Amino acid sequence: MPELPEVETVKRGLEPELLGRSIEKVELRRANLRFPFPKNFAASLTGAVITHIRRRAKYILVDLDKGLSLLVHLGMTGRFTVLSPKGSDNLGAFYFEAAAGDKADGPHDHVVIHLRGGIRLVYSDPRRFGMMDVLQTDKANEHKLLKDLGLEPLGNELSASYLAAKFRGKAAPMKAALLDQSIIAGLGNIYVCEALFRAGISPQRKAGAVKPAQLDDLVRHVRDILNEAILAGGSTLQDFQSTDGTQGSYQQRFHVYDREGEPCVKCGATIKRLVQSGRSSFYCVWCQR
Ligand SMILES: [Zn+2]
Repeated sequence: MPELPEVETVKRGLEPELLGRSIEKVELRRANLRFPFPKNFAASLTGAVITHIRRRAKYILVDLDKGLSLLVHLGMTGRFTVLSPKGSDNLGAFYFEAAAGDKADGPHDHVVIHLRGGIRLVYSDPRRFGMMDVLQTDKANEHKLLKDLGLEPLGNELSASYLAAKFRGKAAPMKAALLDQSIIAGLGNIYVCEALFRAGISPQRKAGAVKPAQLDDLVRHVRDILNEAILAGGSTLQDFQSTDGTQGSYQQRFHVYDREGEPCVKCGATIKRLVQSGRSSFYCVWCQR
């Protein structure tokens, strides 16, 4: 499943190809992904110029010049490919293997957005957990999927004092508190495991019991880890590929995630796995208290 760094990587990959281009035609090849497409989907986008591309949590917002935005979530297996009429000559390796043979006509290519200049933006999603909607740009924060989201982990507002206020009196474990999207938006399981390890905080520790100095450390590690992953092009677990088809390389750098039974990089003890709210937590019992 794409995590925040992958979504940011996709957003950054789309920007140079899409910004300033107008949408000439939108092909919908089915009525729904995770949710049905809105009735006016293709008509709303057609003729508009793409002015901005933003990320909110794990959503991508493509702002258009007529006051509307395309909202996209990649779900588990969603991905974009940019196809140029000149093949890959000008745009670099903008094909990925799965689509190389069939261009924009693979069985999982559900949406094709035709842009001025013969560019095609293809959205493929084998498992169809992704979603797309069209909203009014100035009311984006009121959209049902966005309105309850907490702070961006990479934004300046996230701080130890914000977390301390949110966690005050909370008996829930740190793992659950950090995955709570109404507190921090877009932070997923992998990065919660890694940040807790770096900050030396047990995933089982009661959120309300973590000291301000440790929260300060934690915020710093959350930012560092996400930024490192973005620089590396995302964590790339299984199905994820960025818009240019390259795989990210961050997974080689995980310290605890998916390393059950392996030695801790700090103390050599064995990394343990524990299931919390249905998700695996990986941690070192000696380094994380
Ligand atoms: Zn350790």
